[in-house]
Amino acid sequence: MSKERLYLFDTTLRDGAQMNGVDFTLHDKLTIARLLDELGVDYIEGGYPGANPTDTELFGTARKLGATFTAFGMTRRPGRSTSNDPGLATLLDAKADAICFVAKSWDYHVRVALETTNEENLASIRDSVTAAKQKGREVLIDCEHFFDGYKANRDYALACARTAYESGARWVVLCDTNGGTLPHEVERIVADVTQHVPGDHIGIHAHNDTEQAVANSLAAVRAGARQIQGTLNGVGERCGNANLVSIIPTLKLKGEFADKFDIAITDDKLKTLAQASHVLDEMLNRAPNRHAPYVGESAFATKAGIHASAIAKEPATYEHVKPDLVGNHRRVLVSDQAGRSNVLAELERVGLSVDKNDQRVNRLLDEVKEREAAGYAYEAAGASFELLARRVLGRVPDYFAVEKFDVNVEQRINAVGERVTVSMAVVKVKVGSDSLISAAEGNGPVNALDLALRKDLGKYQKYIDRLELTDYRVRILNGGTEAVTRVMIESQDETGARWTTVGVSPNIIDASFQALMDSVVYKLVKAGAPA
Ligand SMILES: [Zn+2]
Repeated sequence: MSKERLYLFDTTLRDGAQMNGVDFTLHDKLTIARLLDELGVDYIEGGYPGANPTDTELFGTARKLGATFTAFGMTRRPGRSTSNDPGLATLLDAKADAICFVAKSWDYHVRVALETTNEENLASIRDSVTAAKQKGREVLIDCEHFFDGYKANRDYALACARTAYESGARWVVLCDTNGGTLPHEVERIVADVTQHVPGDHIGIHAHNDTEQAVANSLAAVRAGARQIQGTLNGVGERCGNANLVSIIPTLKLKGEFADKFDIAITDDKLKTLAQASHVLDEMLNRAPNRHAPYVGESAFATKAGIHASAIAKEPATYEHVKPDLVGNHRRVLVSDQAGRSNVLAELERVGLSVDKNDQRVNRLLDEVKEREAAGYAYEAAGASFELLARRVLGRVPDYFAVEKFDVNVEQRINAVGERVTVSMAVVKVKVGSDSLISAAEGNGPVNALDLALRKDLGKYQKYIDRLELTDYRVRILNGGTEAVTRVMIESQDETGARWTTVGVSPNIIDASFQALMDSVVYKLVKAGAPA
């Protein structure tokens, strides 16, 4: 039996960005878009062009993605024509493959918020879909407050959905905007909608206000919807959106869905899910949820207790799915096997072949455990992991040694009477028998240190000339006087390759220095610089 296709629509960059404390820069958005594209979702909603400078810039340049890159915005304003609506014009001009319009579908909102008639709202949906289609865009209509609207005025909510579909929208997305609808209601209402709009044109957009956004999404699919909207880790306004990180493995691994549906995420990509989830948390500067289903550190940790011997004999009997399928691993705490196979898999991924019985693998595992306990996060800093592994395996040349560095920060009044803060760094490096001293000024101590370190590395300079730091993140771990600082640095070279390194220390300069050193050494290793 051939399977039906289910589509995944990610709105981390648009709805996810509505969450308190989330403030994506353009760089963040591009990084997350790449992460999502790598994972293999069908649609990536980037944001709301025209609403803020970041989103306008995001859609100012064509983004080459495998996924359908989608811009979000409003349908034409009531009482205006499509050719006389600047907001709509911005949206139509956005460099996007698809446009997702948000439209009212609850007559109460039409009257109170839009202050227009039901007929004019339908005309606005119709005209907006037509205008976007004429521009060659795939069109989605988010029917805002659909479920509440349906309960208040079923005929009108259905008329909005039908109008969108009949005007040519590829997807009519039913939104539980307030997040209060329950799974059995979603299933019943979506089933009714499929009598008016074909299920393979219906999407579900659920919010988590009763902790049932995932359940509501699955209920909609059971009733016939074929697109699911959600976000990575369920980030989103208030209690969040439907969590794709829980939905994806459920669709792939649970028979009721896996036997009926195909999604674009391959088995191999599913194995990167835990990592993708943790990388997003790192970018948001928050600790991953240990208890997150499928991907949390505790998701497959079984406390031995009375089951100890059974777990030791047959750990799988205590698991609902195999942890490695989602890139997680078992933590039974009776052997090091799990960590060991994890390290071996990681070594294979970075292309370091080593015999699985090699004693050095145990040493590496101990080292990784010890360092992760101290605050290093290797999952999100692949380049530092690779260097650590190469060092334990004895394969990193001593290219150069930093004999000392000095960083200072000075606040003073400059020549034109302004108060300025200037940082300066001096680095003394030994390359072979040469001692090189470089100094640089920067807009902060880490910037100055970076510039001085990379100013003159003698015979290695040519390898790092076009190295660029593209991101710098700081997180304070533990808190209180015992706090340590974790610094993550992302670098990029002339080929466009990117890598992330990590440093940990009670001192932020020291942590930054470790991450900078790893970045430079990693580049030299990759470039095959001679020792
Ligand atoms: Zn939403």
